[in-house]
Amino acid sequence: MILSLQNVSKTYSNGVKALDDVTIDIKAGMFGLLGPNGAGKSSLMRTIATLQEPDTGTIDFNGLDILSNKIEFRKSLGYLPQEFGVYPKMSASDLLHYFASLKGITNKSERNTIVDKALEVTNLSDVRDKHVAGYSGGMKQRFGIAQLLLNNPKLIIVDEPTAGLDPAERHRFLNVLREIGTNHIVIFSTHIVDDVKELCTDMAILNGGRILAQSTPKEMVTSLAGKIWKTASSREAIDGLQEQYNVISSSFNDTNDLDVRVYSETSPGADFEAVPATLEDVYFTTLNQNAQPETVA
Ligand code: ADP
Repeated sequence: MILSLQNVSKTYSNGVKALDDVTIDIKAGMFGLLGPNGAGKSSLMRTIATLQEPDTGTIDFNGLDILSNKIEFRKSLGYLPQEFGVYPKMSASDLLHYFASLKGITNKSERNTIVDKALEVTNLSDVRDKHVAGYSGGMKQRFGIAQLLLNNPKLIIVDEPTAGLDPAERHRFLNVLREIGTNHIVIFSTHIVDDVKELCTDMAILNGGRILAQSTPKEMVTSLAGKIWKTASSREAIDGLQEQYNVISSSFNDTNDLDVRVYSETSPGADFEAVPATLEDVYFTTLNQNAQPETVA
């Protein structure tokens, strides 16, 4: 199974170039698309879901040109947008039966099997008779996944599913994705580094509509081994450090000083200690190295 994008670009009518020559191969497993707000994640996902056309480029799924075979491709696709519907006062089970009927699964016992399986995979069996309208945010997200599993899609696209979930719900949701990711391509977008770290077999960092890096989370971290250094700084001294060094991030420590992380090929000095690289270091370093100067209109 492979999804292949070649030179995909998109400029909106207001002049914003949301996708800039995106070329990427995505294989079976969990693929994390990591980037800050406005990076182009939703644009890329809507484009793959054939909800909007790119200006240039091609997209192939297992050899099928999806842009000229949209109807056929959509049979293999499950897409969960960032915002999805308001639900009527119906139980999860009844609603899934209804959606399954709409998808043409008319045989009752076949439908029972499919609905039961979707509820089981998304951990909603216990609350199947409760109204979806009264579900928590995390349960609604899992219901969204249950809904798209009904026609057994091969490619699943989930746009920023963990935004707004509390830590327990987020954890439960990621576990559901992990379960599905073993035999599908699952592409999900996030601006949370930990989502990718915990879950993904493959990942890309997107910003300004461009793929800045693609690899496994582990390889990305390995690429920075020996290049991350830490020092403590007072709040007053941080500006000076930022001028002198390639500061990646800083956070308050127990003594209310700042722990400052710096990128450097060699030791920046005696006050610095070498520390293991993290995926967060990779993310910030990649964004910094590719930062565009801000333009004022
Ligand atoms: P992300 O999902 O990473 O936050 P988006 O794909 O939503 O990024 O947006 C990328 C850029 O394109 C942003 O600058 C956004 O304002 C712009 N954009 C998104 N959708 C539209 C649209 N329909 N029309 C015009 N500009 C858009």
